[in-house]
Amino acid sequence: MELIENNQYNIGHICTRQQCERGLGDKTAFRWISAHQERTDYSFRDLDRESSKFAGVLSSLGFAAGDILFTFLPKMPEQFFCFLGALKFQLICGTLFANFGDEAIVDRLGDAGAKGLVTKKSFLKKIMRVKGQLPCLKWIMVVDMDEHLSEDVLSYPLLMRSMSDDFVAPLTGPSMPSVLHYTSGSTGKPKGVLHVHESILHLHQTSQDVLNLKDSDVFWCTADQGWVTGTSYGIMGPWSLGVTQIHYGGNYDSNAWFDILEREQVTCWYSAPTALRMLMRENPDQFKKYDLNALKHIFSVGEPLNPEVIAWARKILKKDIYDTWFQTETGGIMVTNQPGLPIKPGSMGKPVSGIETAIVADDGILLGDNQMGMLCLKTGWPSMFRTYLNNETVYKQKFRNGYYSTGDKALRDEDGYFWFKGRSDDVINTAGHLISPFEIESALLEIEEVAESGVIGAPDDLLFEKVVAFIALRKQYAYTKELELKIRLYVSNKVSSIATPQDIIVVDKIPKNKSGKIMRRVLKARYLGQETGDLSTLED
Ligand code: AMP
Repeated sequence: MELIENNQYNIGHICTRQQCERGLGDKTAFRWISAHQERTDYSFRDLDRESSKFAGVLSSLGFAAGDILFTFLPKMPEQFFCFLGALKFQLICGTLFANFGDEAIVDRLGDAGAKGLVTKKSFLKKIMRVKGQLPCLKWIMVVDMDEHLSEDVLSYPLLMRSMSDDFVAPLTGPSMPSVLHYTSGSTGKPKGVLHVHESILHLHQTSQDVLNLKDSDVFWCTADQGWVTGTSYGIMGPWSLGVTQIHYGGNYDSNAWFDILEREQVTCWYSAPTALRMLMRENPDQFKKYDLNALKHIFSVGEPLNPEVIAWARKILKKDIYDTWFQTETGGIMVTNQPGLPIKPGSMGKPVSGIETAIVADDGILLGDNQMGMLCLKTGWPSMFRTYLNNETVYKQKFRNGYYSTGDKALRDEDGYFWFKGRSDDVINTAGHLISPFEIESALLEIEEVAESGVIGAPDDLLFEKVVAFIALRKQYAYTKELELKIRLYVSNKVSSIATPQDIIVVDKIPKNKSGKIMRRVLKARYLGQETGDLSTLED
């Protein structure tokens, strides 16, 4: 079966209508398991119908191809209907992580000039607080509200009720924009990473070749749809293959997770190192009662997968874990371990078929084996991002001599395996989520008591990195328990709960260089009790 039929690259169409046309209409596209363990099955026909109806809603509201719509939802069925419906309609679809705070929302919706937002009632208060700052935002649709609230805050069920499901996705070319994910840098606001419909080629190929997904598989990707893994491999890749997915609305709970793995006969599980490390901390006896015979493969992404986790899985679960590496910009898996390739614990594996990698020195020279440098990718793979929205200059800076520079330091050993060595910037990776120190520093400065701030990531056994905030207080204030709580709450509400500092350290002064740039390297060295290195550029 060809993936691209009659030059139709539309991802919404491929993941729904095309699967029905292949004869999979009655097959379960996903089993939705709520946080309370209620189970509901949705077939590919259901997915096709609901996404088509949503595309019809978009049409009735006057959306046009290329407009930008965001979802701001926790994991729930409407997330999938709206995402695929928007793509069918040729909108650009962004997905906001449900824990984002006010500022994080404004930064993303504002930069994108989003015209529509799909959310739920309990998030509405937050949206209404910031709506005044979002002049382009014309329509807000609420998935669990029975009546329209106002002219522009509309009930999704009401809009969908009267809508026909006969929408047909227009013929969509490979370079038509599709998905927009924001990623955090160490300076400035988050950047909108724009993908195109052609990315489905790579997501399809890697779902097949790396994740080894076949028609008969039951696949569970635990990633939230707010991040690239959640859309690339929690929606698009597997459904382009007609594979049944499990989607679970609950949080981490080792028993609930293993109940799902066993009961639903999950054959392939894609998770993240922090979650696996949390499982590793549980009493190993609790896993004995589970029959995991159906589970063929476990994959991991987002942060380095320590060898101890692999050893634990081999001993306790009698399974291997395959680490995969990619980033928002690459759209899909680039370097990976996979069944058939011997695992070197601690290594990210080898480039996937069709991907050419290089380790490059700062001066642009290609390095040989066992030399650490920047991990770069030869341009031209189909799921490559096509720009940073409104920031073409920074986009262009990422490319040199036909290579895309990932920002990750790595080395390739003599057997061709890649080893992650850290990031080349100050971005913090906590539990697989990239967080900008700049965003947290800015939020901290909005607090009356805080005069200066500097934020770093420090090593953490569970989260890989934790957020550590250094603050200098205004003279008239003292650091108290109440202030500490206030700071944590403020960052959580403004940025996101995952950005909340784990450690807050009060200092007299934040080290800055002569042009006023925060010297995070100095803060980090001080925190870790290491040498601070050359301080000649420090301001007086
Ligand atoms: P994001 O763009 O949010 O998906 O984050 C991508 C970044 O997460 C990469 O550039 C790496 O720094 C990190 N990352 C992702 N996968 C891995 C992995 N398997 N090993 C080490 N770091 C990873």
